Amino acid sequence: MLALGLPLVTPTPAQAARQPKIVYLTFDDGPNAMNSPRLLKLLAREHVPATFFLVGQSLAADPEHAVRLWLGGHAVGNHTYSHSNLTLLSPASVRHQILAAQKLMGPGAGKCLRPPYGATNSTVTAVAGSLGIKQVLWTVDPQDWAHQDATYIASHVLSNVRNKSVVLLHDGGGPRGATISAVRVIILALRAQGYEFRTIPACRVPFGGSLIEAAQPRRKPAKPTPSPTLPQPPVTPALKQTGIHDG
Ligand SMILES: [Zn+2]
Repeated sequence: MLALGLPLVTPTPAQAARQPKIVYLTFDDGPNAMNSPRLLKLLAREHVPATFFLVGQSLAADPEHAVRLWLGGHAVGNHTYSHSNLTLLSPASVRHQILAAQKLMGPGAGKCLRPPYGATNSTVTAVAGSLGIKQVLWTVDPQDWAHQDATYIASHVLSNVRNKSVVLLHDGGGPRGATISAVRVIILALRAQGYEFRTIPACRVPFGGSLIEAAQPRRKPAKPTPSPTLPQPPVTPALKQTGIHDG
């Protein structure tokens, strides 16, 4: 019920048009030596940050991948150690799947989990919760793993995206040329519609000297400023995280 006497304020069409619309692109099952570099090149060229849910054991071939994503302005989430269906595991095994992947991802890993297949239950929720890890599913799924057709993937996403949609895509698990071609179309079309691309808030880890320094060998005495040889966060304005205010 509206309070009497208070004016009802509705945005004008012009005001509504100025409200930023947010979309979250997410990529599962990486890293993948064939797909991930191509995708990252595209995202860098378009200044689009995304959220990557990584499989722990896939990081063995490229252990620095997660940190590079983070330093590149993306967010990194947990997709378990071995892409297991967590609903089939004991609480201890669920915990191991999460923690083993989290450890491999390093300091840029967010406190967020995308359970493989979206399969979750009260046990998974309880274990993740006990670790302070939030589960993140999705709202738009073009099933790019089944439809390796860029036109289909792009049109499904563009037909279903709304403000604050979470789009599920994959950069691992098989050839993803169609997905990467679709991503370019999706970015250009959504940007033309006024969408901004953000990372999932629960997966963000702010760039922090303490975290970066914690990953370096200890020195005596401790330096008050980071070493100039340490990797620095990107300076591209479009990739700068602007705070947690959108989801
Ligand atoms: Zn997956």
